[in-house]
Amino acid sequence: PPPSAARLDLDGSPIAPLTICMIGAGGFIGSHLCEKLMAETNHVVFAVDVYCDKIRHLVDPAPPHLAGRISFHRLNIKNDSRLEGLIKMADLTINLAAICTPADYNTRPLDTIYSNFIDALPVVKYCSENNKRLIHFSTCEVYGKTIGSFLPSDHPLRKEPEFYVLKEDESPCIFGPIVKQRWSYACAKQLIERLIFAEGAENGLEFTIVRPFNWIGPRMDFIPGVDGPSEGVPRVLACFSNNLLRREPLKLVDGGQSQRTFVYIKDAIEAVLLMIENPARANGQIFNVGNPNNEVTVRELAEMMTEVYGNVSGEPPLDEPMIDVSSEQFYGEGYDDSDKRIPDMTIINKQLGWNPKTPLKDLLETTLTYQHKTYKEAIKRQMSQASAS
Ligand code: NAD
Ligand code: UDP
Repeated sequence: PPPSAARLDLDGSPIAPLTICMIGAGGFIGSHLCEKLMAETNHVVFAVDVYCDKIRHLVDPAPPHLAGRISFHRLNIKNDSRLEGLIKMADLTINLAAICTPADYNTRPLDTIYSNFIDALPVVKYCSENNKRLIHFSTCEVYGKTIGSFLPSDHPLRKEPEFYVLKEDESPCIFGPIVKQRWSYACAKQLIERLIFAEGAENGLEFTIVRPFNWIGPRMDFIPGVDGPSEGVPRVLACFSNNLLRREPLKLVDGGQSQRTFVYIKDAIEAVLLMIENPARANGQIFNVGNPNNEVTVRELAEMMTEVYGNVSGEPPLDEPMIDVSSEQFYGEGYDDSDKRIPDMTIINKQLGWNPKTPLKDLLETTLTYQHKTYKEAIKRQMSQASAS
């Protein structure tokens, strides 16, 4: 049955059905957002992407109960004149399209800059010219390194929150030098944020900027050699999943000392739905979306994933479950890293009353159960073929 029309926003007003142009809808976040919008709302989605594998169950073909609710538009926003028409027909545009895997930042710096800045320009322009609302996906990487990271490692001030907690309206953006091309991504994202902010200030664009802090869960990226290139390097969740599925050691880059906070994709999607449906509270805002309670070093993440995967698969641990690799070996020249990422949650809490719920252990259990179920057989087949030939 269709969801009831009587859903209310945070101020108690009925939510009117929206038409949403979602660019990058076929990606990790887009696929979860499409599912959520189809399951719990009456909104209509134009799903724009160059591929649709992750939303095939929703669009190819759309199941009968979703007829008229979601359509897939295969187009590259770099060079397709249909984009403006779709934005004009929609009430709201959500832009998720980006190159956003660290392995690309220093090896494909031009594509990274074009994708995250140049290709987003027409989207911002069409929204501004046609008075359409825009929710743009930026990144927590715009904060770069923490202030505390420049202090000696045993300095007591490193423990003070003002030296590491990342605040939307106060923290500086601290990037490394130009030769460290890792920061080209962060810099491109920062400039598009500034441009959107300026469109708001000078031309009245209604915008919301989202800064995701390591959202993870099922369907993130790809497993190399199964549903992505064998030599491809996805983000850490998929790298470690791939290692566990193949029973090879997890690779810790530069000792795995960097710290991250991981949030479950389904918690984060709740925050995005609140932004979509509460424009008066979300317009003009930049929101951190993360889980400050789920902080680990990359080494701790590797240990936890190894333990959880052992329980899920019933496979015994390896003698050597982890190995160290240098960032140069793993990513190549020009790699650098964010040291620590704790999101301040004051603004999203105040505006939208949102808080993350799922502890890291629980989200890893759900996610690794999915990885095992989805990929284990394919990997077994592939490995036995390789050993036979
Ligand atoms: P993703 O790579 O899974 O999704 C991006 C989608 O955009 C892909 O499906 C891709 O095909 C599509 N796309 C890219 N260029 C396109 C183009 N020119 N035309 C049409 N489609 C195009 O990544 P994701 O994790 O879903 O991230 C979505 C957004 O959130 C990105 O802007 C990313 O920078 C941001 N973000 C995500 C995270 C996270 O934790 N997942 C963290 C920080 C920032
Ligand atoms: N990393 C790692 N081993 C891997 C993949 C990633 O040690 O196989 C590290 C990487 O160097 C970084 C962290 O894990 O410190 C998170 O990387 P990810 O690609 O998920 O994205 P980031 O959070 O840096 O944007």
